[in-house]
Amino acid sequence: MTDGPTYGFDTLQIHAGAKPDPATGARQTPIYQTTAYVFRDADHAAALFNLQEVGFIYSRLTNPTVAVLQERIATLEGGVGAVCCSSGHAAQIMALFPLMGPGKNIIASTRLYGGTVTQFSQTIKRFGWSCKFVDFDDVDAVKAAVDDDTRAIFGEAIANPGGYIMDVRSIADVADAAGIPLIIDNTTATPYLCRPIEHGATLVVHSTTKYLTGNGTVTGGCIVDSGKFDWSANDKFPSLSQPEPAYHGLKFHETFGPLAFTFHGIAIGLRDLGMTMNPQAAHYTLMGTETLSLRMERHVENAMKIAQWLENDDRVDYVTYAGLESSPYFERVKTVCPKGAGGLFTFAVKGGYDACVKLVNALEIFSHVANLGDTRSLIIHSASTTHRQLSAEQQEAAGAGANVVRVSIGTEDANDLIADLDQALAKATS
Ligand SMILES: *Cc1c(COP(=O)(O)O)cnc(C)c1O
Repeated sequence: MTDGPTYGFDTLQIHAGAKPDPATGARQTPIYQTTAYVFRDADHAAALFNLQEVGFIYSRLTNPTVAVLQERIATLEGGVGAVCCSSGHAAQIMALFPLMGPGKNIIASTRLYGGTVTQFSQTIKRFGWSCKFVDFDDVDAVKAAVDDDTRAIFGEAIANPGGYIMDVRSIADVADAAGIPLIIDNTTATPYLCRPIEHGATLVVHSTTKYLTGNGTVTGGCIVDSGKFDWSANDKFPSLSQPEPAYHGLKFHETFGPLAFTFHGIAIGLRDLGMTMNPQAAHYTLMGTETLSLRMERHVENAMKIAQWLENDDRVDYVTYAGLESSPYFERVKTVCPKGAGGLFTFAVKGGYDACVKLVNALEIFSHVANLGDTRSLIIHSASTTHRQLSAEQQEAAGAGANVVRVSIGTEDANDLIADLDQALAKATS
């Protein structure tokens, strides 16, 4: 498919990055199940290894099936390039790796996926990196947290578990003023509901495990670069602006311009960290992207109906869905996610911990799992599972109090989902 900025999202999600296979004419993107690629001759091999020519060397770095997915996600997000990797958590490390060094820090929102809180508060310390968690609704506090060693700001467009909506633009302004990139985890919104680059984000990361694949089959991640950041404007990003000893002193930004971050992600990130996406996973995720807009529309429609039904039910204390007028983020949704507030929210059940456990056990269509973004409706009671090790105060602060369950609304018939919740709430609160 030729580049066409005039194509709509529904067309691009099927065609971007793909063309009939040049060898066989296969219409669907083949799974290139190969580790290595034959060089034309020794000069070709040398040019590839010197980064003077783009091509396939070895599948830890690049693979034709994965390359189609990279181009597709980059196009859907409005970026210039993307690097896929083995999981969403790998994508976060791959995004930070070129920016960070020992003693450097990031600023992250207090409202994040639980696994990300652990990665940023505990594991990155082993690299000598650190993270300051700040309430992103307090823009002055974010500004005040930036210091000389801050190298990035990180938040989620629609955040777990409560469906909090981030004001991406106001935080992007803080990052711009500080000369550092804003990284947005767009997993729960997807580029169909929110395109963070249009709101000023530099980099977008995904757990492709979730909505992009859409049916709970494979784990994967992706880092998309807007191509808009000037890595040479200050001396904060030497990996991108200064000579790279492992490539005979090549400077990534000078050589690759807006594609510097993407080339670095492949040539250094995948080469040396090795968190590679395999072609089978790329295949499943490519299948998923073809129906992304159709599924997201249904996820949003169902989530809205179910959130409204729950909010009017006497057995429920409150519902946090940002699509509801009662949400403090109702107005913000219109600018950040104009097509809807996603499929994820929490609600509080009268009867507390015991009622929540009974509810989860009594549901028949909803699955009790630690995942989101599946076609299937999913539920989890955080206080008895993912947030079990936390104190009651910590659970409350995380939006995961003993009386709260999180749902990821699927694409089933909304009436069936409501009937399932109705019968399970009856058992839970009787
Ligand atoms: C699942 C998830 C991640 C982590 O992704 P994995 O593919 O499980 O490594 C990161 N951020 C968000 C918002 C997620 O939902």
